[in-house]
Amino acid sequence: MDLWVLRAAGTTAAKGDPNMILRCRLCHAPIAACDPARLIPPLTSAVFEPLEPGFPPPFPPDVPWEAARCPQCRHHPQGYAPDGAKSLETDQGTWPLPEPEQPDAASPDPKPANPGPIPKRDKPNRRSR
Ligand SMILES: [Zn+2]
Repeated sequence: MDLWVLRAAGTTAAKGDPNMILRCRLCHAPIAACDPARLIPPLTSAVFEPLEPGFPPPFPPDVPWEAARCPQCRHHPQGYAPDGAKSLETDQGTWPLPEPEQPDAASPDPKPANPGPIPKRDKPNRRSR
């Protein structure tokens, strides 16, 4: 049975255009190329690639996204509004970011915080005044 080959081949359906251009919200300069499929919070600077192959990356990969700066105006590409972090400005308009997935926090723990059976502190050598 070669079903797995067929399945693997079926998953290579290419999207039309994987690249989107990130624009600065403040100065509207095109900053970086990015794959919309990778724009999943928490964002990292590493998902943004240079506009043209061969150019240095727009942001140092080890810089947190919060610390990324537009190369043109030296401000954060999303601006500083509280709601600004929920979307990106792109050549395709405002791109809403998906809600960050937090499997740990999303699944409520059915058990309350229970330290377990508390050992009796019945030390025989306790002195009573
Ligand atoms: Zn800018």
